Amino acid sequence: MPHTILSPKAFKSLATTFLVPFPIIGLIFFLVGENHLKQELHRISHSYVNQIEAIADELRDENLQALYDATNCQQIQKDLLFKAFLREMLIVEDLKITCSSKRSEADLAKIKHQLPAEMLETGEYLFDVPYKDGPVRSLLVVDKDKNAPSRSAISIIDQSYIDVRLGLGNDDRIMHSIMTVSGKTYPANSHIEDNRFLTTANSDHLNIQISIQPSNKLKNELYINCVLFTIPVSLFFSMLWYLLRYWYQTKGSLAEKMKKALKANEFYLVYQPLVDSSTAKVQGMEALIRWNSPRTGFIGPDIFIPVAEQHGLINKITDFVFERALADWQQNTVSDLHIGINVPPSYLSQNSCLEKLKAYAKRYQAQGLQLGIEITERQLLDKSDRAVLTDIQKLGIDVSIDDFGTGYTSLSVLEDTEFNYLKIDRCFINTIGIKSVNSPVLNSIINLADSMNVLMVAEGVETKEQADYLKSHGVQLLQGYFFYKPMSLEDMSALLKNNQ
Ligand code: C2E
Ligand code: CA
Ligand code: CA
Repeated sequence: MPHTILSPKAFKSLATTFLVPFPIIGLIFFLVGENHLKQELHRISHSYVNQIEAIADELRDENLQALYDATNCQQIQKDLLFKAFLREMLIVEDLKITCSSKRSEADLAKIKHQLPAEMLETGEYLFDVPYKDGPVRSLLVVDKDKNAPSRSAISIIDQSYIDVRLGLGNDDRIMHSIMTVSGKTYPANSHIEDNRFLTTANSDHLNIQISIQPSNKLKNELYINCVLFTIPVSLFFSMLWYLLRYWYQTKGSLAEKMKKALKANEFYLVYQPLVDSSTAKVQGMEALIRWNSPRTGFIGPDIFIPVAEQHGLINKITDFVFERALADWQQNTVSDLHIGINVPPSYLSQNSCLEKLKAYAKRYQAQGLQLGIEITERQLLDKSDRAVLTDIQKLGIDVSIDDFGTGYTSLSVLEDTEFNYLKIDRCFINTIGIKSVNSPVLNSIINLADSMNVLMVAEGVETKEQADYLKSHGVQLLQGYFFYKPMSLEDMSALLKNNQ
């Protein structure tokens, strides 16, 4: 069979994680970029309109001035000598040119054609002005003299000026621009294709409209930016999505799996003996939960108990352990067999806690079992939880403080909490034989417990040296791999038979 690194399912999931965000984020960036480009085109087209407006407005003033001086052509020529953007101004009277800002009277006399009457009305016009080399489409600004209706002033704007103002050939952001005046276009016969980038701006007081089409350079910038932004951002979201999914699969859904596992009876108990330190005989046991899921395989309580606590499943699980241990030890023949059950603080906070425990204590007793509960010191912060421990002992249940020494409460627990056993945490037992100064913290815990007359259990005893040390220091009960690992119900029952 060919060996593949990724299963098809894993490959599919990885591919969707990394490929799905790409087009979505790409599309978002494209739309944002396109919107940005459209705004930019809008701005450019308006700036073109404004520039043409500024010229036309200024020429309108010149026209009015020229009409005022209409009979003094020399004066007009003098005034307009340096108006660079003015190609020529004409004064027309009764359809005939009577004065030109550029041409002499003799030249004017040669002009044969008449100007069309409708073009002598006040306004802006595109007109094919006849010149030596043929007609040229020009923008005219015309004003009719209010006092002498047969007289008009016509300003012809210099073409190169219009070209510059329309960005024709000098603005690399723009591919085409076109000015429309009363349906006529400038440049003549130009056509601008309609697509989604076509942007049009209208003058608010002149009869002028300018449409522009962006250059490929500007469009390419949009596409390039789009890709440049999309790659890192979509990678970021892919990673985020991947992590969230990973988190959900390992944590979030674990709670769901646990709910199903409870119904499907996938949990069971193993038992770890507690032995007498002087005789090495089994004195009792701790029930430890196990989960072997057909879907996910074996999952340790270190993983799923905290998840059960987070998702409000822990009390159900604790009840399961109480019930399962009872069921496991129905055939118990050992009298007063101590069995310790791990109980989290949230179980103690239930209103029904004492009632439930009372019922369990009764049923355990009836089967010859001495029920004990182990409460981890790390979570035992609440004063009311501690107070309830006294009531629990009155029910005939042994109370052990588990993981002693690892929480913040150690000393205050000793002061104001009633209990039967102190389970010294594994981390202190580990120091035996390692710390040259003979485990000073462990020694002070032992001394403290001694002086308070509480029974001690040492957890995690793994070596003979540790067992001997604890025995010689008066720790009464020992639990750990050195003696027994947690074992199945059958093994535990067999062990108890031999023990007797
Ligand atoms: P714990 O209550 O401190 O249980 C003792 C843990 O130490 C058990 O791990 C046991 O297998 C392990 N152990 C015992 N002897 C040795 C040893 O010599 N060396 C080492 N390295 N480990 C030793 P386990 O069963 O994996 O449980 C881990 C924790 O999960 C428990 O710590 C307890 O806090 C929680 N847990 C286990 N079963 C239950 C349960 O039924 N209910 C609740 N609420 N918590 C449970
Ligand atoms: Ca325990
Ligand atoms: Ca412990």
